[in-house]
Formats: sequence, C-alpha cells, structure tokens
Amino acid sequence: MKLKIAILAGDGIGPEVTREAQTILTAVAEAGGHEFVFTEAQIGGVAITAHGTPLPQATIDACLDSDAVLLGAVGDNKFNALPPDKRPEAGLLQIRQVLGGFANLRPAVAYPALADNSPLRPEVTKGCDILFVRELLGGLYFGQPRSWNKTTNEAINTMRYTRDEVVRVARVAFELADKRRKKLTSVDKANVLECSQLWRATVDSLKPEYPDITVEHQLVDSMAMHLMNVPHNFDVVLTENLFGDILSDESGIITGSLGMLPSATIGGKVNLYEPVHGSAPDIAGTGKANPLGAILTAALVLRHSGGLEEEARAVEAAVTQVLNAGHRTADIARGNTAATVTTEQMGKLVHSALAESIDRQQSLHGV
Ligand code: NAD
Repeated sequence: MKLKIAILAGDGIGPEVTREAQTILTAVAEAGGHEFVFTEAQIGGVAITAHGTPLPQATIDACLDSDAVLLGAVGDNKFNALPPDKRPEAGLLQIRQVLGGFANLRPAVAYPALADNSPLRPEVTKGCDILFVRELLGGLYFGQPRSWNKTTNEAINTMRYTRDEVVRVARVAFELADKRRKKLTSVDKANVLECSQLWRATVDSLKPEYPDITVEHQLVDSMAMHLMNVPHNFDVVLTENLFGDILSDESGIITGSLGMLPSATIGGKVNLYEPVHGSAPDIAGTGKANPLGAILTAALVLRHSGGLEEEARAVEAAVTQVLNAGHRTADIARGNTAATVTTEQMGKLVHSALAESIDRQQSLHGV
C-alpha cells in the first residue's frame, strides 16, 4: 500500500522523538513492501523563526496533500511574550482546525514492566487499559467571544457546544467501546454547566442505538479522583475538549510517564497523530526524551490510516518487549539512572525487537 505521511517535527524534543517514530514506520514499510512517502514541513516555533508564522501555508498544503500527519510537539519559551494567537501553540490549534479531526483518541495503558514506575500502587494500575475520546474542535479552546482586556483586567473564554458536535464524537466513543469492553464513561460538569447538560442529554439520547454498551456519567472533578483510585474501572472515557486535555495528562501517572502516551485525531479530512506530551524544553537536546509515546503514535498511524492492524500490534509488542527486557529512558528509570538509555538507543532497541518479530513471522510464512 502507498501512504503519504506529512512529518511536522516541531520544537524541543519533537524532532528527537519523531525521528525514532519515522524509523519504525520505514521499517514496517520495507518489511511489508509498502510505499510510505514522507514530506517534512514546519510548525510551531521553528516555523515562526523561519517564516514569521507558526503555521505557514506550505505546511497546510503538505498536510492536506497527505494521508496522515505525524506531529512531534510545539512550544518554545522564547515566544512566551507573544499573544496566544501568535505563539507556537497557535499553529497546533490551527492545523487541528484545518484538518478537521474532532475525535482525539488517547490510549493510556499500564505496562506490567512499569508497574513500579507509577506513584500508584501496582495493584491499582494492574490491567488498566483506558481509551480517552476527547472532543477536539469545540469548547473553551475555540469558543467565541474570547479576549483579555488589559485595561479593565477582564478576560473571557467561551465554552460552546452544539448537539451535532456532541453526537459525532459520542458516536466514535460508542463504536470504539463496542470493539472493546463495552463500557462508556461520559465526563461532564452537568451539575453546574449548561454545556455539560447538553452533553449528558445528547449521550443519553444515543444509548438506545447501542444497547450492548453500558453508559455511566461522571462529573469531571470526581472523575479526576476515580482515575487515580480505580483506573481499571474505566474502558472508553468520553470528554469535552478541556476536560479531556487535563484527564488524559493525568493518566500519564497510570502509565508511568507523559512520554509513554500516544494519540490519534480522526474524523476530519486527514488524520493527525501526535504524542500527548509537549516540547519538553527542560530536556530538549539532552537525549533524555522518551520516544515511546511517539513510536506508539506511529502504531496508531498504521492502524487508523494504513489499515495495518497486524503491523500496529507488532510495533506495540516490540515496545512491550523492550520494556520487559528492562530498558528505560530517564523518565521511566525510577532513579536507576545507571541503566538508562538515550532517545536514540531506545528507538534502536524497539527497531531491533520489531525486526526480529518480522523475521520470525516471515520465516513462519515461508517468505
Ligand atoms: P511537556 O509535556 O512538554 O513536559 C511536561 C514534563 O514532562 C516535563 O518535565 C518534561 O520533561 C516531561 N516530558 C514530556 N515529554 C517527555 C518525554 N517524551 N520523555 C521524557 N519526559 C517528558 O509540557 P509543558 O512543560 O507543560 O510544556 C512545554 C511546552 O510544550 C509549552 O510550550 C507547551 O505549550 C507545549 N505543549 C505542546 C503540546 C503539543 O505540542 N501537543 C502539548 C503540551 C504542551
């Protein structure tokens, strides 16, 4: 198969982790006789430096001409003084809007090998496998009016949702729950917010169409607590934009590090894939970045844009194998710094594990 993939490495650790993810995609393509065509384009701080804007038209064109977009991260402290609509992060919000994906899938899996890594007790995280479905194009991030009046010292952001916006993302969540453990937890703040009342009523109105799915509603504040207390109780978790941003970062505690979390945004013109973490300026250029979130994101590219489920699972299994063998980047080393590997070494370890499993499969099938 042929897949055109736009690579938007971005800022900070973005290029470091994206390089490793791209190597894995190339390995899968070579092994399977697929043609993956990569086009590099700029976004974020690097684009501001080169072109004066966080999202140049050439980047938009490259993305719209692709089957998938793989993004590293954006954000650079040197642009902190700029207004929000000029900063590197504005490029990310704009490309999400241009591509139109409204359902952001964020898996959070507790790897047994990292059980001692989480500040949560191993018996709390054991077997935990959550899929967040976060609405990505509405809510406070995009609602109008928005402003900061520095004379009156008043700032406004608007949370706004329509029934149609809730229906389309809720359907994605119901359908994914149907393929998993058939439980859907919808998160809102319906005791205070009208937007959340609309959200809850809309989710309830879809329930008759999915009789096999058990639906529960959680208020976002208590959900933040339950996620740390009983994370194994959750299967698919549906949220609006801001609540999902916060709760899925919190779930980094379950996996052991923010650097372990992948994401895929589907439903628009072109799917957008990005690890959950940001540009991590505190560790950029030190070789300490964990590339596994980006590599697991590459697995989502294979699954959702390539239809290559077996290959996606092989990448995920290679990550599990490397962790089981005890290899750790600094963020998941739990103080055992002597045994840590760099970003590049971790990428190579996953690549070797993947190559071995591909070899085994090919000799099994007599290829
Ligand atoms: P961050 O995710 O960049 O970092 C938070 C903490 O996690 C830091 O201590 C960092 O070192 C660590 N971390 C993150 N990813 C890691 C990895 N792969 N391996 C090891 N450790 C990792 O969040 P932040 O510090 O709040 O934000 C930094 C910049 O990133 C800001 O400019 C912010 O706006 C931006 N940001 C971008 C995105 C994105 O591009 N999707 C997401 C979040 C934040």
